[in-house]
Amino acid sequence: MHLAQLLHIAKYNIKTKSLIHKGKDNFCNRATEYQGTKQETKKKMCSDNQSLSNVFGCQVFNDTEMRARLPKNVYKQLKETMIGNNPLDPSIADVVANAVKDWAIEKGATHYTHWFHPMTGSTAEKHDSFISPTSDGRIIMEFSGKELIKGEPDASSFPSGGLRVTFEARGYTAWDCTSPVFVKRDGDNTTMFIPSAFCSYTGQALDKKTPLLRSMDVINKQSLRVLRSLGNETSNMVYATLGAEQEYFLIDREFHEKRLDLLLTGRTLLGAASPRGQEMADHYFGSLDERIASYMAEVNQELWALGVTAKTQHNEVAPGQFEIAPVFSTVNVANDHNHLTMETLQKIAKRHGLICLIHEKPFAGVNGSGKHHNWSLATDDGINLLDPGSTPHENMIFMVFLCAVIKAVNNYSGLLRSTVASPGNDHRLGGHEAPPAIISMFLGEQLNDIIEQIKTGGVSSSKSSGNLQLGVSTLPQLPTDCSDRNRTSPFAFTGNRFEFRMPGSTVSPAGPTFVFNTIVADALSDIADELEKAEDINTATQKLLKKIIAENERIIFNGDNYSEDWVAEAEKRGLPNLKKAPEALKYLTCDDNVELFEKFGILSKAELVARHEILLETYSKTINIEARTMLDMLKRQVLPCVMDYCGTLAAATEAIKASGLAAKAQSKKLNTIAELIDGLSDAVENLENQRDEAEAVEGTQLNADAYSNKVIPAMAQARTYCDKLETIVDADVWPLPTYAQMMFLK
Ligand code: ADP
Ligand code: MG
Repeated sequence: MHLAQLLHIAKYNIKTKSLIHKGKDNFCNRATEYQGTKQETKKKMCSDNQSLSNVFGCQVFNDTEMRARLPKNVYKQLKETMIGNNPLDPSIADVVANAVKDWAIEKGATHYTHWFHPMTGSTAEKHDSFISPTSDGRIIMEFSGKELIKGEPDASSFPSGGLRVTFEARGYTAWDCTSPVFVKRDGDNTTMFIPSAFCSYTGQALDKKTPLLRSMDVINKQSLRVLRSLGNETSNMVYATLGAEQEYFLIDREFHEKRLDLLLTGRTLLGAASPRGQEMADHYFGSLDERIASYMAEVNQELWALGVTAKTQHNEVAPGQFEIAPVFSTVNVANDHNHLTMETLQKIAKRHGLICLIHEKPFAGVNGSGKHHNWSLATDDGINLLDPGSTPHENMIFMVFLCAVIKAVNNYSGLLRSTVASPGNDHRLGGHEAPPAIISMFLGEQLNDIIEQIKTGGVSSSKSSGNLQLGVSTLPQLPTDCSDRNRTSPFAFTGNRFEFRMPGSTVSPAGPTFVFNTIVADALSDIADELEKAEDINTATQKLLKKIIAENERIIFNGDNYSEDWVAEAEKRGLPNLKKAPEALKYLTCDDNVELFEKFGILSKAELVARHEILLETYSKTINIEARTMLDMLKRQVLPCVMDYCGTLAAATEAIKASGLAAKAQSKKLNTIAELIDGLSDAVENLENQRDEAEAVEGTQLNADAYSNKVIPAMAQARTYCDKLETIVDADVWPLPTYAQMMFLK
């Protein structure tokens, strides 16, 4: 049996070997290369059957596999655990482990890993092979229930924000059985991945997943309380759902290799604007370039095999920018899938001679990348609690849940802002490409009308949708939506869900999502407290909604969030405008928010303080790396180049003058360049000093403030000189690929 499995693996590996890494060679032949890789990857994806429905989820230990491979009673017990009814019975763990191991080995896996989300923001994995030596010098393939349920990675090098000192290295990972196990190939290595939560020896959360899972329980419980008091007896579970739209850039790998800033920081720290940017608005939804389309096709194949429901793909606003969006799912699965998506986007890009940049702001002067979080609540019997239906004013459940979200966002707008605070995202928010740093909500015409009616006592009607006449007999009549969209709003109602547009492209969806879940659960809990004691539920609900709207109306804003007027208006309304990450992050540990998280058992004060520390430290380290990278590039690439160029120009000017000519143009240019070089050289010195000073500042908050207030402006100043020089120095000697090349050459 085991030998047969090993033979199977060997055969399989020979068949699939050398496929993935083809793309890593030189990219001169990239056109033929990626065609070849694509074909073979397709073949590799799922043995023989090419049809999409067979490809989808073929690398996932999904319900069909579970049902087929587990004894009936074990399957049933596991399902009970998955819906939160019973903790996992250790006695069935061995059976499940054995079944999942056999399945994974058939898929070619030699290793397994607990896969978790430490506070670094990315994912972590530590692979162990299934092999177990026998006394006669052979091996067998083994995997126990204990190994499935619990991992013990050495936790000492993960950020813990002081929760754990380095010599107390123990940390545990625990299987999150609500997100399916999958098998993934990276190069010639095939491993079984077990989605997991990660905590310290004392049980404190050291990851992004644990609070997310805790918040799912909480929102379920509070939603059910409200549903029951409104007379719903049919729903037994409420799930928070998430669809995360992912934006990214693609550039040729050749350019990436020549830029230390992209290599080390994921964004360009220097670079003059391209003569053509995004002003023609012709990239957005434009037809797909062939190389990009082939890349997207391969990304989809890979994601579908992993059970990720990749659905939408298109060109985004900036040249070289794209988007991918899945069909929504429960928040923890959506979170895992978004991490797989980011990883896959980057992995496949290399096979096509491309690099995928997920950074929030790879290029100044054109749009950065976000990750819109579409969020809603769904019941196990198929009700979307944020779907207004055609007559929302009669839909009491919808109105109550809508008001709960309004109350939640108003009460905790600072906290919500803190979930998207990062050095990369600071470049986006307020930059007329993304919502400003002020949180507000857009509801649209139909819901505003209802809100107005509630305010003046009782609702009696809903504005209905109509038909759009296009004035062309061959075109169909289009049913219109009840409200238009507002793309400038940070938190917009979009018909049957809310769309949070502030998160940056690199953020782990777990962060903003566990906060939504918790703040909405808090509002629902207050609502349930009132409704559960009401004698006449209709009157009580009407009264309560009126009160909620009166108290929280300031958060609703339907106008242009990019306008200056709104900044002034928001200030009048007392809404926080937290422009920079270090100020926004303070909200994580303010008293009200600590109380909120402790009330629902999401995070303790110690865990919140630790998170705050980690995020501030990450902020400072990021800016420090950027500053050091910029200094390296300026001192070792730009300055030598421009000084040489200046010398050549000076010699030429002298030669021309010696021949009796005035050399007016040359002298003028020489002057300009010499002045810019002086400016740049001083700016470099200043940046060096500011960075040294910031690094020496004690205390995480003060340290982050110093990077924010001193180092970032010094970097901006140095960049101005460098970018000016780039526009006047001989293109042949400029040491860095330009914006035009990187964004336009595919
Ligand atoms: P947009 O027009 O806003 O760019 P997209 O089609 O790119 O929209 O993405 C919309 C996202 O919203 C998709 O991921 C979709 O699955 C998700 N979505 C739709 N309905 C819900 C819902 N009820 N809960 C969560 N997400 C949803
Ligand atoms: Mg979209």
